[in-house]
Amino acid sequence: MATRVIPVDPFDLVIFGGTGDLAKRKIIPGLYRRFVAGQMPEDARIIGAARSELDNDGYRDFARKAIEKYVHAKNHDKDKVRDFLKCLSYFRIDALGQDGWKDLAKIIRKDVVQAFYFSVGPRLFGELAKRLHKYKIAGPDSRIVVEKPFGHDLESAKALNAELAEYFDETQIYRIDHYLGKETVQNLMAVRFANILFEPLWNSQYIDHIQITVSETVGVSGRGGYYDKSGAMRDMVQNHLMQLLCLIAMEPPAHFDPDSVRDEKLKVIRALDPVPAEDIVRGQYRAEGDQPSYIEDAENPDSRTESFLAMKVHIANWRWNGTPFYLRTGKRLRARKSEIAVVFKEPPHSIFEPQEGRRCNELIIHLQPNEGMDLRVTIKEPGPGGMRLMDVALDMSFAEALGEDAEDITDAYERLIMDVIRGNQTLFMRGDEVEAAWAWVDPIIQGWIDRGDRPKPYDAGSSGPEDALMLMHREGRRWREITE
Ligand code: NAP
Repeated sequence: MATRVIPVDPFDLVIFGGTGDLAKRKIIPGLYRRFVAGQMPEDARIIGAARSELDNDGYRDFARKAIEKYVHAKNHDKDKVRDFLKCLSYFRIDALGQDGWKDLAKIIRKDVVQAFYFSVGPRLFGELAKRLHKYKIAGPDSRIVVEKPFGHDLESAKALNAELAEYFDETQIYRIDHYLGKETVQNLMAVRFANILFEPLWNSQYIDHIQITVSETVGVSGRGGYYDKSGAMRDMVQNHLMQLLCLIAMEPPAHFDPDSVRDEKLKVIRALDPVPAEDIVRGQYRAEGDQPSYIEDAENPDSRTESFLAMKVHIANWRWNGTPFYLRTGKRLRARKSEIAVVFKEPPHSIFEPQEGRRCNELIIHLQPNEGMDLRVTIKEPGPGGMRLMDVALDMSFAEALGEDAEDITDAYERLIMDVIRGNQTLFMRGDEVEAAWAWVDPIIQGWIDRGDRPKPYDAGSSGPEDALMLMHREGRRWREITE
């Protein structure tokens, strides 16, 4: 099944931080894939901008290496790479200085879409916005793309929003959460709102609970200093897990347009109850063999920052009263996996003999490593052995549907960049959403500080601290296994 590609309008995209890790691993490889797919017009221009001493050829060389390393070998076509690299140039500029900005203004075309990707640390967001305005580089239709982290708490997020709002309208600001760019996340909206099948069951009458897991096998080595000031709550829950929670829990929007969708997501965040201390488990990974512990990676023997977090969350509205949402994320866990599991209730009365090991219906939405969904249903075990029941998965994975093309599932970043060029903000976080998320998170973090809460140690390669299992067991539920 070949996917349809609709080319976007010609554009000038300036990547501030064009020599950085994100540009190398995601932005440039993603743009190249869109070029190969025919979605990026040949007269589009990509301008890398940073302080490093590079000329255009040097930058193209940087981009070529990024493509070789991060794009699947089957898409390495010499001619295509050469043509793509022709769209690239480099501009040496300091976000904190004044030199070069007038020259940048001269080369940006006024008759095409203009996008400015802030792939730099947040302390430079305001500086870039100010200069794009001062030197009349950005106009009323230009778009800016900002990366996470968007603030460290409510106060800093408000300050960042205010800084950007001085120069750009909210309709021009694209706050990236790459989880929203995943094929399956969008498919979740299609499954919920384009079918009659699920929506009548999508409430606390039929859904027992929902689990959202984002587990990683890597630790924080190499970025321990940064991570230690953040922790799982700020780094993962406040953005990625809450965005997934919103899409699962939101009411059907009146229209599929950016503000209708984001209004409904915001209502979910505002309906979140405060979380009592007994419903949260924090953890730090131990050393394993020659792999250091969290404390060693963070180089902070007194660190109280969590590398693991599990929590039970309640949404106080009519639809979800009585259905808990369990969120779990952590580093150095057993497997790399992101998934949402919607676990339905038992039928009200069973006409069949009770049977060991039977499961309730589950809709599993897999985000990582392989995107797709499966719906677990109960059927009769085939054969003459009497009326025995078995659970099977109705597999809706994209690998099945797309066959050989499955490898070409658009990466989240490239999809989101194309949405920026198209001017579609549906999959980007609005300023008030980000602030509402911090307003919910801040008191939880403050509670840990006030109580002097210490994370529980857990074994590397495990599913997290024992207490996280108890969070579910005490209510007769269990987490899904963290396996690939
Ligand atoms: P990075 O590797 O440290 O790159 C930073 C970039 O900013 C470099 O290109 C650097 O180039 C440029 N830069 C620094 N100071 C500058 C200045 N004063 N003026 C102009 N350019 C300047 O960081 P990164 O990992 O790419 O991350 C970029 C942003 O994306 C950060 O906000 C990060 O939190 C976010 N992010 C990254 C990832 C990821 O996977 N890497 C994932 C999610 C979010 P010069 O030194 O040459 O100026």
